Amino acid sequence: MERFFASRNGKDVFLTPEDEHHLLHVLRAEVGMEVEVVDEGDLFLAKVVSLNPCRLTIVRPLERNGELPAKLVLAFSLLKGGHDELVLMKGTELGASAFVPFISSRCIIRLEEKEKEKRFARYQKIVAGAASQSKRLTVPSLSPILSFAQTLAYPADHHFFAYENLADGTFNLPEAFASVKPGETALCMVGPEGGFSPEEAKEAVNKGWTSVSLGRRILRAETASLYLASVFAFLEERK
Ligand code: SAH
Repeated sequence: MERFFASRNGKDVFLTPEDEHHLLHVLRAEVGMEVEVVDEGDLFLAKVVSLNPCRLTIVRPLERNGELPAKLVLAFSLLKGGHDELVLMKGTELGASAFVPFISSRCIIRLEEKEKEKRFARYQKIVAGAASQSKRLTVPSLSPILSFAQTLAYPADHHFFAYENLADGTFNLPEAFASVKPGETALCMVGPEGGFSPEEAKEAVNKGWTSVSLGRRILRAETASLYLASVFAFLEERK
């Protein structure tokens, strides 16, 4: 069943113009058709009561929760070849509650202001589409594209950065994630294709971030983000 993020007034449902177009002209809705509607994190069953004007009404609330007890915020570096878009789409499916795109010293991409705006708009579309497809109750939030220093200052209950050069290589991810309680926010940062510089790693530790290993192999940046999100969701699903 289609799911729309919409606003409600009493039993009346208001779709965005894009969603209205999708409902009427792509899904070829008929009066009586039922759809799922999310408003401010609440899920409802709604039905089409008229096509012109397009009007929907709430039938009843629905119980279903596509959200994890603790909140994963994925800080990812802008990547070449659309790999950062993969992080957004798959990270949304895997339950991330927010994304923090950033540019650090070894990031290959360099964007003008105009290009940043274009890329950000594309990011928003990808996250909204993935949230709807994966039946999330909320559309993950997207911070503006930040610098490394701004990302280090991003507020969260826990700050983990995946560091490919972890000296002693202990696999400390299970303990790191075990420390995250329901309702808390875990900000997890993954570096660009070129990784984190030793200076950046030192700066993160000085700012109270915990370095975590993702295992014995060097993962590509997009793999590392999706591995982190998968492990986090795996541990959270049973809570
Ligand atoms: N160019 C670097 C690798 C960068 S991988 C090199 O060859 O060493 C991109 C990012 O993925 C890293 O900055 C880190 O955040 C993450 N990552 C990849 N493998 C990892 C691992 N085994 N442990 C921790 N982080 C890892």
